[in-house]
Order: sequence, then C-alpha cells, then structure tokens
Amino acid sequence: MSDLIEGGPKLPQERRLITEIPGPRSRELQTRKTAAVAQGVGTVLPIYAAAAGGGVVVDVDGNSLIDFGSGIAVTTVGNSAPAVVAAVSNQLNAFTHTCFMVTPYEGYLQVAEALNRITPGSHDKRTALFNSGAEAVENAVKIARSYTRKQAVVAFDHAYHGRTNLTMAMTAKNQPYKNGFGPFASEVYRAPVSYPFRDSGVDGPAAAQRAIEVIEKQVGAENLAAVVIEPIQGEGGFVVPAPGFLPALAAWCQANGVVFIADEVQTGFARTGDLFACDHEGVVPDLIVTAKGIAGGLPLSAVTGRAEIMDAPHVGGLGGTYGGNPLACAAALAVLDLIETDDLSGRARELGRLLTDRFEALQASDARIGDVRGRGAMIAVELVEPGTHTPDADLTRRIAAAAHARGLIVLTCGTYGNVLRFLPPLAISDELLTEGLDLLDSVFKELT
Ligand SMILES: *Cc1c(COP(=O)(O)O)cnc(C)c1O
Repeated sequence: MSDLIEGGPKLPQERRLITEIPGPRSRELQTRKTAAVAQGVGTVLPIYAAAAGGGVVVDVDGNSLIDFGSGIAVTTVGNSAPAVVAAVSNQLNAFTHTCFMVTPYEGYLQVAEALNRITPGSHDKRTALFNSGAEAVENAVKIARSYTRKQAVVAFDHAYHGRTNLTMAMTAKNQPYKNGFGPFASEVYRAPVSYPFRDSGVDGPAAAQRAIEVIEKQVGAENLAAVVIEPIQGEGGFVVPAPGFLPALAAWCQANGVVFIADEVQTGFARTGDLFACDHEGVVPDLIVTAKGIAGGLPLSAVTGRAEIMDAPHVGGLGGTYGGNPLACAAALAVLDLIETDDLSGRARELGRLLTDRFEALQASDARIGDVRGRGAMIAVELVEPGTHTPDADLTRRIAAAAHARGLIVLTCGTYGNVLRFLPPLAISDELLTEGLDLLDSVFKELT
C-alpha cells in the first residue's frame, strides 16, 4: 500500500475507516517494532503511516485519519506540501551535503537572512543553524554563557526544552523525560511561571515579580547568563502566561545583563496566529530558538539573535556535521515563502477561533473542561474533576483513545497529563476540522 499512495494535499481530504484502529498491517508492524526498536522510543498511536497531506494521515491498512497533531507542530504547511517537495527535489538533484563548515552554500545564508528579517526586533542579527530543537536550545545557552561570561541558567516550572543532557536539566517534568537519566547538567535553576488557571489572583506583572524574587534570592543576576522561556509552554500544557508576565521578565533581564532567550520551537512560524508567539505582546528576545514548524518536516533548527551576542563565541565554537543541511534549508525557504504568500498567520487565527468557539461551547455544558486556552492553531483543554482544579489524567487518556479509535489523531500534554492539545496543520480544511470537532464532541458526551 505504501508504494501506491502519494501524499500531499491531493490525498482525499476525508476521514475513512476501513479496519479497526490500529488495523492488521499496523499491528503486524508494531510487533516488529517491539522486536527491533528500543522500547524507550514510544508511540502515541501505532498506526503506521503510508502517506499524509493537507489534514489527513493515511495508514498502511488504507485508513485515513484526521490530523490534529501535525507530528507535534511540525507540518504547519501540511505534509509533502508541493512547494516544499519541489524545492527539496531540486536541491536533492544538485547536492545533498557538503557540510557548511567545510564548503558552504547559499541556502544556509538565505535561511539565516530570512530568520534575521522575520524574527522579533529590528536590531542587527545573526543566525546559526542546527538539527533539532534541543540542539538549538543547548547552543543558545552556549552563546549566552560565552557572551556574558556567566554560567547560571534559569528555566521555569512546566518547561520542556528537550531530551539531551542540558535540556533534560532544563525540562521540569520527571516522567517520562528525566527519570533515571541523571546526573543532570549543573547551574540550571527553576523559577515559577505564570499559569492563570492554577494561579488565580496573580496577574502577569505579579507573577513576573514572584519569579524575579526567586531568581534574585536563589541565583543572583551576577551569576546568571540566561533566562530561557517558552512564550506559550508546549509539553507543559499549552500554558499561556498572563499578559505582562513576559514583558516584565524581559525588562528585568535587560536591566540586569541577563540574556533573554525565547524557546519558540513549538510556537514559531505562524502556529499561534503571529509569526512568533513573542510578537503578540511585542516582546523582543535577545535570542530566539526555532525548529519544528520551520522546514515542513525536514530536521532543522536555529538560534537567531543580537549580533553582538551571537558573535561572542570564537570561530569554530559553533556548528555540527549536519547543521543547516541543504535539503532542510531548501524546505525552510519554501515554508517561509508559503507562510507569507498564503497568510498562514491569518489562517492560524481562523482555526483558533473555530477551535476555541467549539470548546467554549462544550465547556458551558461540561464541567470536566476546567480551562480552554491557547492562541491561534495551538489550543488546549485542561480536564479536571468537575468544579475543582484536580487534574483528571484518566479521562484525558480515555478521550484521546476514543478519538484515536474513530480516526482522529489528538495529542495530550501537561505536567499532570490532563491536557488535550490541538495542533492541526494550517493546511487542514474547515470541513475536516469541523468533522474532527464534531467527533470530539460526541466522545465527550459518550464518556462519562
Ligand atoms: C519539541 C521542543 C523542543 C525539543 O525539540 P527537538 O527537536 O525534539 O529536540 C524544545 N523546546 C520546545 C518548546 C519544544 O516544543
């Protein structure tokens, strides 16, 4: 089957179940997975993909599932978007790799120039390219330490920054990310974030003051190289800080010689209805870290920021064999072009309105939905025991499982495992989005 189906937006945009989920071929492959792949590499929904595009993933049994996950906020422009396929194919025929650190190529420069232009702030900027989000976060910390000649790093409650040693230390949640994998990198400290649903009465500036007090008492600005924050937390539960929190934090960093780093790996590239989540409050980070949505599914990440900070590390201090791979750069240029020409930020805002309206309507009649939040096409519902703030992870799991069984890919997240998150590709049609929402509506009504 996988040889017969072509992906991309031409794939019939429909939910179609012809076997149970997962079907017999997927189950067969899952048995091989268990025998061949380390169990530590988990799978949310073991249907094996044969093709994907627009708003659907088609599996090896011929089932077509609605995609509310985008491979974790990666295929923002859709899978196998024709412009991305064409750009990567051209590059594939020209050359696949020379290593930018050996003999460079123009695609890398074009991506750097584009990121310098579109990221928040009009100051002089530089960019360095890497492969994964975690690798880029690590490099942002390296750069901040090199520039400030200081060592400490502050991350936040509910933060997620990756699975490498330094980024594990920066990530808040033990299971599954950290348990048994220590010792972790030193000089990483944690501050409280603004989490309006669990924080009532603490507005943004007050939450920032609370964090700043912890930082001043427990770390000291004179030791602190960088504050690293997701402007909207991803894995931690799509936590949108109260207005004023991020600007106050950024202002404190600026006043105290601390590099303010925005981890926009999940929020970047039109996902939240602005090009970057920082744009929403006019926050200008010193360094911005991007990945996921940047290259339509090819592995690419970046650190972009103030020229004087980015240029602090010595020549040869940054890089990597594959960083800024030519195929990934070609894909990124096509993605950035699509975001501008198709006004994907506007599309994310439309999707956000559709999602929010539906979930708020559902919340009005279902007290298990404690909170509906997010921005643009990054929306979540937090599930609780009715009338309380007590997390209901079990219900969250059951709803996700029921949605999967009916052909809708949804993801969960949150420190307490009680958040359903919705990250549809911006290429999804209104019809498919509505069908997915209708389906969730009935799942909520049936599961008591
Ligand atoms: C996914 C993610 C990362 C890690 O990216 P990888 O490419 O998986 O290493 C870092 N920060 C945030 C906010 C993320 O969502």
